[in-house]
Amino acid sequence: MPLILDGKKINSEIRQDLSTRIAINLADGFAKPCLAIIQIGNTKESTKYIEHKKKFGHTIGAEVLHIHLPDTVSDSEVLKEISSLNTDDSVHGIIIQLPLPKHIDRDVLVEAVISSKDVDGLTSENIRGLWTNDKGYILPATARAILTMLDYYDIQVSGKKVVVVGRSTLVGKPTAMALINKGATVTVCHSGTVKLADHTLEADIIISAVGFPRLIDEHCVRPHQVIIDVGTTFIKDEEVEKITGDVDYNAVSQIVAAISPVPGGVGPLTVSSLFQNVYDAYLKKIGK
Ligand code: NAP
Repeated sequence: MPLILDGKKINSEIRQDLSTRIAINLADGFAKPCLAIIQIGNTKESTKYIEHKKKFGHTIGAEVLHIHLPDTVSDSEVLKEISSLNTDDSVHGIIIQLPLPKHIDRDVLVEAVISSKDVDGLTSENIRGLWTNDKGYILPATARAILTMLDYYDIQVSGKKVVVVGRSTLVGKPTAMALINKGATVTVCHSGTVKLADHTLEADIIISAVGFPRLIDEHCVRPHQVIIDVGTTFIKDEEVEKITGDVDYNAVSQIVAAISPVPGGVGPLTVSSLFQNVYDAYLKKIGK
């Protein structure tokens, strides 16, 4: 049996750690860390993700402001909201819940968030920090979750061959760049990649962030590999809604050395990683 990379367990340890640190800061007279979430419209998925974030934030003793705007809102109205959060000293992190309605200019809104509060790590300043491997840039939460998972299980990255499947701005690219910064040799695959298995079979570590169930099957893997499944697709199984990853878990887990499950892998860790980003921004603000 492979080693199961248990995101729930790591998530619960991070939750405990953040709760303890926040309680100490409160006892020392500091305010709570505060994350502001801007939601535009009523996408079911977004509402669910925001509920998870609120729940996690409240359990660790952080403040979570949920600014819910109608999908008729204009760019300039959202920009006003962002501007007031940027200058509000009680707010330490700001995220704009994606995806956004079509009429909204995502890039303009994302760029309007002050980089020190950009806990999604999407502004050009944070991306520049990631590219140049500066100290102090904010890494997007999913990439941070993947690095945390590898680190928790003492899985060496430096000198290893890593294949990242998926090249999105949100997940694939920042993960690939963060791994290069850690000394890995990284290949990025995408929808234009010919013979995906030729690449994945070469890897020590495969990270799949696509959203295509069973993309990574027994033909894509070999013994001794580590598999991290970031994909999340909602499927109906006998009328019950289920979540599934990119990896054919049953087949692949017979072969490889370590694997993260879906659910219970990167998903829960992404929320705790977001709050680690918020906590880091808060520490900088309070000067600790
Ligand atoms: P995305 O923006 O849709 O990007 C998907 C990527 O997969 C694209 O780069 C696409 O290539 C590539 N791709 C599509 N079909 C492929 C194929 N057949 N072979 C190889 N690559 C293929 O999605 P995302 O935001 O990066 O998210 C990826 C997955 O991770 C989704 O399932 C999402 O729900 C999940 N996710 C999970 C978490 C978590 O916390 N667990 C967080 C974020 C996202 P092209 O660029 O060529 O189109």
